Amino acid sequence: MRVLVVGAGVIGAAVAWELLQRGAEVVLLDGAAEGGHTSAASAGMVNPFSLTPDDTPALPLYWRSLQMYPDWTRALHERTGIDPEWRNGGCLRVALTPTDAEHLETSLAWIHRYDAHAELYDAYTARQLEPALNSEIACALHIPSEGWVHTERLMRALHRAVQLSGVNLYTGSPALSLVVRNGAVRGVQTAHGVLEGDAVVVAAGAWAGALLQPLGIHAPITPVRGVILSLGDLPLPVRRILSSPVGYLVPRADGTALLGATREQAGYDARATAEGYAVLTHNLARLAPYLMHATVLGHTVGLRPDTPDHNPYLGAVAGYDGLYLAAGHAYHGILLAPATARAIADVILNGATELPIAPFDPNRFMR
Ligand SMILES: Cc1cc2nc3c(=O)[nH]c(=O)nc-3n(C[C@H](O)[C@H](O)[C@H](O)COP(=O)(O)OP(=O)(O)OC[C@H]3O[C@@H](n4cnc5c(N)ncnc54)[C@H](O)[C@@H]3O)c2cc1C
Repeated sequence: MRVLVVGAGVIGAAVAWELLQRGAEVVLLDGAAEGGHTSAASAGMVNPFSLTPDDTPALPLYWRSLQMYPDWTRALHERTGIDPEWRNGGCLRVALTPTDAEHLETSLAWIHRYDAHAELYDAYTARQLEPALNSEIACALHIPSEGWVHTERLMRALHRAVQLSGVNLYTGSPALSLVVRNGAVRGVQTAHGVLEGDAVVVAAGAWAGALLQPLGIHAPITPVRGVILSLGDLPLPVRRILSSPVGYLVPRADGTALLGATREQAGYDARATAEGYAVLTHNLARLAPYLMHATVLGHTVGLRPDTPDHNPYLGAVAGYDGLYLAAGHAYHGILLAPATARAIADVILNGATELPIAPFDPNRFMR
């Protein structure tokens, strides 16, 4: 079985690595010199609950993916020598207002179905754990099961792992179109000719729509720009994810922290603007005002591949034999990478998966 994977972001690279480990021949191509700019620019939270406003049918897959993280990152580390810095440090989901606090109380019921140790803390207890928090917070929900990775290291490890496992890698080589023969997708057109395969996985993030639209496939994906600031010289430490309705902080192993993130409708414009910085620092003043004296070390920018229901398209596309989608991961692409990889490899190699991917049917918006 020869599989072409279009896009070497966290999703395409993870799918490629899974397929290679299961004996498939894999061609991985990316239009950029080094794929996965958005993935490397992201905050790296592996957080099924802290950014999810309510109970959703997507949670069972989020949860399964979180559970895969320790083994998945350990295997990557062992294979490549590059440590993606998986940390199972937990999260404090912070309520800034009485309304936020009511929401946290109702959230606790559905979060408990997965993480029995999640617990609501009053402001005093939360600040004992995380002294950088604003003294005005209402309360906080401690979710010990959540964690984070260093995304730039994760991407380097994934790219190295596929290379060590014998992938055919083409960078700087965009897929210009999908090649259809007798109703089946059997390759991709590049500037250098056609690459043939038994199956094609479109994992092109925010750009996937350009390949799908010419085939009449309606799986809408729009870019949502996100900017993150990297903070150093923290006056008070950040020990776990601090998430709130206005933004979040994620610690790094070297004592720095990431401050995220803007959500901007700016098309494919991937600039960090002064306005984006202003939004982030305004939010920091509400969440952890003591950190306003930290040093801004830099920023990263990425284009989230968002979908109408903020969930990805995972699986086989109806009407086109050999075509699979693994795109549209919106706010959860890092979290969902290992589960996506396993599910897509299952579907391609075995025709089905035991993973709960029904809510992610790629055909759900087809007219
Ligand atoms: C600021 C920010 C913070 C985030 N924080 C988190 C977080 O904490 N946790 C989390 O789970 N998620 C987070 N996300 C979301 C996550 O980063 C994305 O969901 C994820 O990176 C999507 O991965 P991807 O591989 O689909 O896309 P990308 O990383 O964008 O990769 C797609 C690749 O496809 C290539 N490509 C496009 N078109 C073609 C073509 N025609 N031919 C060949 N190659 C092509 C591109 O060059 C690119 O390399 C965040 C995102 C942002 C922007």
